[in-house]
Amino acid sequence: MHKHHRLFSNPCLSISCLGGLREVGRNCFPIHFKQEDFWIEIDCGKAPGSLGAEDAIVDQEAHVSKSSSHYLDSLKDILHKIKHLFITHSHLDHAGALPEFYAMAREVVGDDNLPILHLSPFGEKMTEAMFEYNEQEFPQIAKLEGLCSSVSLSNLVKVTSFTVPHSIPGTKSFIIKVKLSGDKWFKVLFMSDFRLQENYGGSQMAQVMVDVLCAERPFDIVIADMLYCDRPGYTQSEDETVSTVGKVLGRLLVKGAKQIIVSGFASNLERWQMIGKKARDLGIGSFHPKGTAMETVWGIGESLELFDGEYLGFGSELIACTGSQAEPYAVLTLASLGESQRLRLHKEASIILSSEIIPGNEAPVVEMVRRLSAICSEGYAVVSPSTYRALGTNPPENVFAQANIHNSGHGSQLDIKLLLQLAKPEFVIPYHVPIGKQGALGRFLDSLGVNYFQPTTMLGLDS
Ligand SMILES: [Zn+2]
Repeated sequence: MHKHHRLFSNPCLSISCLGGLREVGRNCFPIHFKQEDFWIEIDCGKAPGSLGAEDAIVDQEAHVSKSSSHYLDSLKDILHKIKHLFITHSHLDHAGALPEFYAMAREVVGDDNLPILHLSPFGEKMTEAMFEYNEQEFPQIAKLEGLCSSVSLSNLVKVTSFTVPHSIPGTKSFIIKVKLSGDKWFKVLFMSDFRLQENYGGSQMAQVMVDVLCAERPFDIVIADMLYCDRPGYTQSEDETVSTVGKVLGRLLVKGAKQIIVSGFASNLERWQMIGKKARDLGIGSFHPKGTAMETVWGIGESLELFDGEYLGFGSELIACTGSQAEPYAVLTLASLGESQRLRLHKEASIILSSEIIPGNEAPVVEMVRRLSAICSEGYAVVSPSTYRALGTNPPENVFAQANIHNSGHGSQLDIKLLLQLAKPEFVIPYHVPIGKQGALGRFLDSLGVNYFQPTTMLGLDS
């Protein structure tokens, strides 16, 4: 049986980790409350190397490395004590193993003892689609409504959830509090994938987050996404990305473009919403999604009134679709092979890839860009500088590089520093950091002078 790492333990709780610590993928953090002897789990990510066709429905942001796919088995011994499962957001590396988890739980503890699933309204709809695809019944849920809400799990344990900025709507982070004595609490902040930006980006969501953290700090433990601990500065904002996309659209319209295709991740509704506004301002006649993933996610966004995307008019046409990573079943990939029923490319069509190549995925993207540039011989393909460099010394003449055409949902060094200044943690547990970046992570955290968990000083293994 696969063992999981115990990251922290004291008389009131222990925090373990099945995956996600030194990799991107299978995030899963079980927490044991010792006095009342029950567990919760935070996130239930897809096991690395097991991505299948359903990824066309909920597309994959993260690079996922190869490893075992049965990591959930090690939960079997404690399943009868897991009472709640909290999901930060519905990217596959955080929520993709939910159908597998509940199938296993039904077998082990039966239908009446399943953990209650806590997620945002957007997370609920996305996850429902995942269960439908797997032809599985949806478990009992508790919705994490609004920008901030709290729930008491027992006499001693309370969880507050609040929304944080990431590249998918309704991303939640959690404050887990265990009552000690009097009005003293042991406090853990579980920070989902996040980026903060300078002055927190100025949104109402960010203001609520700052208020909640200021009210609850200092934290005994902060567990946080530090994927880009090696990138200086702040992560670029969606505003800057969309303003860049807008400039490119303007240039293509001046050149008489009639059909423009923008490709990126379906779940980044904020970006699609803002690109829609730009398109309107530029007088583009229609903006609509093509393909199952994009149509499903836009539909969910519209049903929750998070989004009004499609509109119809006259003039040039703007299409949003997936396939920016040349995923095998995505519309743009199929269209580049002439195999898509949904998207027929004109030879005058222009294509914008609002993306960076996921490391290791260079070859399929490069081949797709070359095919697209040949089909759309009288249009243009606009890609990020790193994608352009991947084309090598002989790039097609109608492919152009454009800086700032994409931004990540993960914070860089200054975003992380800002979080730690805000939360004032006693002890930090970084996660989402691939093994190759562990050296950079250590140097970065040392420079901030914080106490942090080092995998080499692992406390031991929990069965
Ligand atoms: Zn994410």
